[in-house]
Amino acid sequence: MKTRMMQIIDSENVRDEELREAARILRTGGLVAFPTETVYGLGANALDEKASGKIYAAKGRPSDNPLIAHISAIEELKPLVKEIPEMGRRLAEAFWPGPLTLIFPKSERVPYGTTGGLDTVAVRMPGMAVARRLIALAGVPVAAPSANLSGRPSPTTAQHVWQDMQGRIELILDGGPVGIGVESTIVDVSGKIPTLLRPGAITIEMLEKVASTVAIDPALMGKPDSMIRPKAPGMKYRHYAPKAEMTLVEGKTEAVVREIRQLVDEQMMAGHRVGILCTEETREQYPRGILRCVGARSDEEMIAHNLFAVLREFDDLQVDCIYSESFPQNHLGYAIMNRMQKAAGYRMIHAK
Ligand code: AMP
Ligand code: MG
Repeated sequence: MKTRMMQIIDSENVRDEELREAARILRTGGLVAFPTETVYGLGANALDEKASGKIYAAKGRPSDNPLIAHISAIEELKPLVKEIPEMGRRLAEAFWPGPLTLIFPKSERVPYGTTGGLDTVAVRMPGMAVARRLIALAGVPVAAPSANLSGRPSPTTAQHVWQDMQGRIELILDGGPVGIGVESTIVDVSGKIPTLLRPGAITIEMLEKVASTVAIDPALMGKPDSMIRPKAPGMKYRHYAPKAEMTLVEGKTEAVVREIRQLVDEQMMAGHRVGILCTEETREQYPRGILRCVGARSDEEMIAHNLFAVLREFDDLQVDCIYSESFPQNHLGYAIMNRMQKAAGYRMIHAK
């Protein structure tokens, strides 16, 4: 299949003519990658099992990993769900359009092929106007996981999508680099207490302002094992991962730098190419190794924005291993560390 790339001239003021071809492809069962405010999504008609099946094939995604259905307006929620629990309504009102995915009991209209066989459906109304207008023009809810090959870092630019999806999908809409850079927060509202299944830019602190109690899926931070099954099936897979083996080093910043310097020396002695994921504050302190700076420690938003692109850069640089600094796990830092732990396959060293 020949993949076309189409540039959106001005994402803030997208014209319908620029989206008509993409909408037609979605409506007729094809695949289109498009920008959202979180990461690039790989879209297909969520109500057409055959179309959503193509997403799994293009990504190499395990078939038990359900897709998020994207809508363009709140009225489009009702047909997808059996009921809208009070807490779901309140969270949607507070954070939609935006980077929050809610899990509802699904209606008959949503095929099991889209929900990975579950009786629930994940729904989100994206904040980016290009995405909402595209969904509106397509006239169907759009199932859209991140537009990367399964297991690779999520794409935050159209070029990342091209690297992974060229030859596998009909069209990539290039709307420039995304804003947030990590995937949506996922909250299950199908049970009694809203439960966080994946941290994202809508933080626990923000959720708690609307829902006084928010439970956290016990499987979230630790290494997934057979005892605790994550409620979001996708969270059990190694994910977001660069090709090289990555190790996180946590502790006081000076100790972390010292530890990483020593590890880098050892690896280089063994003849390996070593990547270091560092920050503005520490970059001058590493005399050896291939440095990539993810932003300033004081600016979590910048770190989230750059994270996946930096992991992909390490792939391009063909490093053998990566040592990475760690970040405090509050606010957006929770989402950042969740993705980094997965990228590292939970390899973590505590520096003393
Ligand atoms: P992605 O769109 O690639 O970021 O992945 C979607 C995430 O949403 C995966 O972790 C899925 O497991 C999760 N998800 C989608 N639908 C459901 C659902 N019905 N219940 C729980 N998790 C879901
Ligand atoms: Mg993904």
